[in-house]
Amino acid sequence: MMTTMNAAVFSGIKQLDVERIDKPKIKDDEVLVKLKACALCTWEQRVFTGINKVHFPFIGGHEESGIIVDVGPKVDTDLWRVGTRVVVGLLTSCGYCDNCRTGHEGSCTRFSYENHVGGLNIRGMGGLAEYLAVPVTKLFKIGDQLTYEEAALTEPLSCVVHSVDTAKVELGDDVVVIGAGIMGVFHAILARERGARVIISEPDENRQKFLKQLGFDDLINPKTVDPVNTIKTLIEGNGADVVFDTLPISPVAEQAVSMAAIDGRVILYSSFHPDTPISISPHTLHRRMTKLMGSANSDSSDFLKAMKLLNNGTVDVKPLIAGTVPLSEINKGMLWALKPETYRVIVRLNESDDKSI
Ligand SMILES: [Zn+2]
Ligand SMILES: [Zn+2]
Repeated sequence: MMTTMNAAVFSGIKQLDVERIDKPKIKDDEVLVKLKACALCTWEQRVFTGINKVHFPFIGGHEESGIIVDVGPKVDTDLWRVGTRVVVGLLTSCGYCDNCRTGHEGSCTRFSYENHVGGLNIRGMGGLAEYLAVPVTKLFKIGDQLTYEEAALTEPLSCVVHSVDTAKVELGDDVVVIGAGIMGVFHAILARERGARVIISEPDENRQKFLKQLGFDDLINPKTVDPVNTIKTLIEGNGADVVFDTLPISPVAEQAVSMAAIDGRVILYSSFHPDTPISISPHTLHRRMTKLMGSANSDSSDFLKAMKLLNNGTVDVKPLIAGTVPLSEINKGMLWALKPETYRVIVRLNESDDKSI
């Protein structure tokens, strides 16, 4: 058996190459996952462009799916056996710090980009390697109907499950989603599933067209109208019950707060680049009883919910997959993913010996 494998390794800003590295060895309570698909998230794109700082060499990829090809002697094979198709999630959380134990694995205090995960000898998230050694607590089962590419989007969907749950979207709520990148679209889809009316603020014409194809007709263009006044007019003067801000631009966060109805919930979902402070009237927050909240990452329960939503077909991610590239064309995939109009680009792994993807 081969003791090395291919992995896409960042060795500097805009330096991303396929290298041979050691194949991970599993511990007694781990399984070996042969990865099949890994999506290129904004996070990896920001490593590529140098916005997210990491120490090189580094292996990116945290939206991955694959198949179990080996199990350790202590693994319960009633649950996890060779041939089980899985999503690997939350690989970077330790599982035993206070945050992990209170269900906030996405905010694990022991997490660091300096950590090694998945049995790899290079630090990083690991999803852009061909194999990972994975503890069974980090596995989520893929349903028979779902492709590996679709399953790779469980992680971003799980982050939006977390956000929508945090906002407690309810039947009949007026929900505003600011920005229709993939995360904005997921927010719109899940809010609609919750029985909300969804209004989306998005200036890009192609994205507007795409949103209409998905059945979203309440769209506003913040470049041609004042978004706050327009939202208030659309919702008959009250403002939105829930506002999801998915843009990384600080002044937009101020607008999001101004859009909220009395007792409205505002979720700052995106990370902010640059992290410029915003100005908010504390009296207005008090008087309007605005709930201003952040949402970041996801935990095991969000992953389980996201996996179910995909497995049972409630959420169809196919329209959000821009396309796929083989691992050997990772740079082409990254440049494609970096274009603002592109939704998710997925890297195919281990396809030479298996056509089942
Ligand atoms: Zn992601
Ligand atoms: Zn932890």
